[in-house]
Amino acid sequence: QVDRYLYHMRLSDDALLDVMARFQAEMVKGLGRDTNPTAAVKMLPTFVRSLPDGSEKGEFLAVDLGGSQFRAHQVKVFDDGKQSSQLESKFYPTPKEVIEGSGAELFDYVVDCLADFMETKNLKHKKLPLGFTFSFPCKQTKLEEGFLLGWTKHFKVRGVQDTDVVNSLRKALKKHKASFVPAEDLEVLALVNDTVGTMMTCGYDDPRCEVGLIIGTGTNACYMEDMRHIDLVEGDEGRMCINTEWGAFGDDGALDDLRTEFDQELDLGSLNPGKQLFEKMISSLHLGELVRLILLKMTKEGLLFNGKVSTALLTKGKIEMKHICAMEKYKEGLGNTKEILTELNLFPTEEDCIAVQHVCTIVSFRSANLCAAALAAILTRLRENKKLLRMRTTVGIDGGLYKTHPQYAKRLHKVVRRLVPNCDVRFILSESGSGKGAAMVTAVGYRLAAQRKRIDAALAPFLLSLDTLREVKNKMRTELEYGLKRETQASASVKMLPTYVCGTPDGTEKGKFLALDLGGTNFRVLLVKIRSGRRSVRMYNKIFAIPLEIMQGTGEELFDHIVQCIADFLEYMGLKGARLPLGFTFSFPCRQASIDKGTLVGWTKGFKATDCEGEDVVDMLREAIKRRNEFDLDIVAVVNDTVGTMMTCGYEDPNCEIGLIAGTGSNVCYMEDMKNIEIVEGNEGKMCINTEWGGFGDNGCIDNIRTKYDKEVDEGSLNPGKQRYEKMTSGMYLGEIVRQILIDLTKQGLLFRGQISESLRKRGIFETKFLSQIESDRLALLQVRLILQQLGLDSTCEDSIIVKEVCGAVSRRAAQLCGAGLAAIVEKKRENQGVERLQITVGVDGTLYKLHPHFSRVLQETVKQLAPQCDVTFMLSEDGSGKGAALITAVAKRLHNVGQ
Ligand code: ADP
Ligand code: MG
Repeated sequence: QVDRYLYHMRLSDDALLDVMARFQAEMVKGLGRDTNPTAAVKMLPTFVRSLPDGSEKGEFLAVDLGGSQFRAHQVKVFDDGKQSSQLESKFYPTPKEVIEGSGAELFDYVVDCLADFMETKNLKHKKLPLGFTFSFPCKQTKLEEGFLLGWTKHFKVRGVQDTDVVNSLRKALKKHKASFVPAEDLEVLALVNDTVGTMMTCGYDDPRCEVGLIIGTGTNACYMEDMRHIDLVEGDEGRMCINTEWGAFGDDGALDDLRTEFDQELDLGSLNPGKQLFEKMISSLHLGELVRLILLKMTKEGLLFNGKVSTALLTKGKIEMKHICAMEKYKEGLGNTKEILTELNLFPTEEDCIAVQHVCTIVSFRSANLCAAALAAILTRLRENKKLLRMRTTVGIDGGLYKTHPQYAKRLHKVVRRLVPNCDVRFILSESGSGKGAAMVTAVGYRLAAQRKRIDAALAPFLLSLDTLREVKNKMRTELEYGLKRETQASASVKMLPTYVCGTPDGTEKGKFLALDLGGTNFRVLLVKIRSGRRSVRMYNKIFAIPLEIMQGTGEELFDHIVQCIADFLEYMGLKGARLPLGFTFSFPCRQASIDKGTLVGWTKGFKATDCEGEDVVDMLREAIKRRNEFDLDIVAVVNDTVGTMMTCGYEDPNCEIGLIAGTGSNVCYMEDMKNIEIVEGNEGKMCINTEWGGFGDNGCIDNIRTKYDKEVDEGSLNPGKQRYEKMTSGMYLGEIVRQILIDLTKQGLLFRGQISESLRKRGIFETKFLSQIESDRLALLQVRLILQQLGLDSTCEDSIIVKEVCGAVSRRAAQLCGAGLAAIVEKKRENQGVERLQITVGVDGTLYKLHPHFSRVLQETVKQLAPQCDVTFMLSEDGSGKGAALITAVAKRLHNVGQ
């Protein structure tokens, strides 16, 4: 009979899934900028952005207003690795005249209690940060500022709505000055909702906790939302805790079909009719009253107590939560129920007792069901934010109903698990979450501020001022001049190698050429067909691996391997026996005496084959061909990749007189006036100079901007002390610099919970391509975490923000340094030409330049700032080292033929 009577209160799983979907829609509405003003569920940003990580420490005070009791707390948090904390609390009554009086009285009372607490705990004159737990809906604009939207539960204080409650508390503190501690020492640092406090307190014990739930006098939930979904707060990075204020769910009518006549009656008799309708179906403040209204009606209809209504049953508030809890203790039989009803003068039969117990069960079960449905919506949202198919998470819970009702917790857990089978949820009880939580939030704030200082300090040396960059440009300019002068050339760190490339293509070049490309990530052999006049080039190429043992073996082995690859390629292309002209792109510093002679000055990047330095690489190649004795080739030119890049772009834009590489290595070439090149005979025309600027600073001239991380990268490299500029600017090293910083920050306990993982110890694990991925604007933080996870780095959300920041600092500095160097080159060219303004094109190649999301932009901006009189056009080269080598070979061949 009762079942039939309360049919509307019994919710099937389908009905609950429907409630869940409705709440999901409410959350979206509350988060959206345009929809928020009319949303019932306010989804309030809390400005809490981080969960505790266990390294918090310090001593804090907290006051807690809005729960069943008003309390003051002293919390001590220790960073002893055991997540331990101490809490001492004192309860104070909240008299009716205070919770229904004026605002000033309320805050004076709060401060009175705090003063008493400090006196009893001997804390007078101690300088302690104060957290304020205030469990009513507040619109926060900062962590320590919040405007009350409206009272809930049994509070109704005048003149507080729409004012900043932190400010009111501060004012009351000041007034108390005389009898109390110096007010300026008692700083209110955080305003916290009890849900947030609960989440933070549980989060201190279980780092997976990202939801806080209250089921007590009121009901509410908070959870960590992605910043990019929070329209009301600036910024897209990281997460922020959202106080859902779900008690107001249904205030716009969204739950009307589920609300019974009893719910309506209860609402009409409440302090805030029409408001907090969801809360009124759930929280302990209302369940007793609901039961009373049901029993009253059933009795009036003669279904209970022989139809006899008692005065007690007619009195509001006569049935309380504690009665329901007692009646639902099934194990204790019907005794409790009988006793309670008797006390209400109802003279129950055994059947009455069974029926009443059943009413209680239906009412409290509905509460758990509704709570579970809304919680399931939050969990699903969290899982979808993380793009996970399955999620493990923890919910921290506080509140009298959940804690004391004999069946409530079990029911709630069971229903949640049924509604979201793809979430593994752990529920943990918060120990005085609302009080400790405010202290926890304050403690986390303290930790973050301290961490921020140290991270800023670590990254400060990577921030280069415009003056510093100007200084770099000037030093580069000095070094360029040194490299060109006869007396200083031998000892110059920027070697300024003549390439004997004197002209750019004129469009008449044609024929079939072979090209080799050695010195980048891949070794390639190419066949290039150039058709004259039409400026069209066709290429066929094959990539060959050069195993590490050959890169770092003997020179003979290296060149034998190269010739082996050429043989394979000729075979593959059906070209065996054809004696083709060959251009050899060899991207290491070579001292050339003619276009087809190049003595290796020294290996760079990842190469270190023996017996090559000081040798002519063309000779070595010729000898290897001879050793193989299978085919012959006409080696016409040895070419640096920068020169190839410049030539390729020059084929299309005659104004291109500079070639830049920002790939594995960093280097530049440009057309210099012959009269400035002292070590080459002749003063007419121009010749391309391969600057080999990667060696800039090898004489110590930029040591003032090198960081300890740069030094570590240098010391761990194949060529310590060499290529210092390259090691700050090129793809081979940027990831390694990042790794060094991450290790340092981890050692300082600022990252990865202070744990240096095995993978972070591995040199080279952090490739430069990861910088590009991590710094991409389109990438959500979650994806950054996935990248780090693939690297074996288990990161929190905060970790990934820091890693992204580190990557940004390193790549930005690289681009700026490169830009400063390039500014020196274009300025020199402008002065060479003696013009007020220079129009010039730079041909660029290199994956760092092409694929990094910000590198090219920052580089260009820097050039513009440091060389304002030059209009520099940047032109991407397509396969400069292959096509360029062929073009240089063609030009050389043409000039050679003309000469003959
Ligand atoms: P190379 O300079 O060796 O001829 P690339 O110009 O292709 O060849 O540069 C390769 C280098 O670029 C790699 O060594 C790596 O350091 C870097 N790199 C690879 N992928 C990326 C990327 N997505 N973003 C930035 N740098 C990258
Ligand atoms: Mg290359």
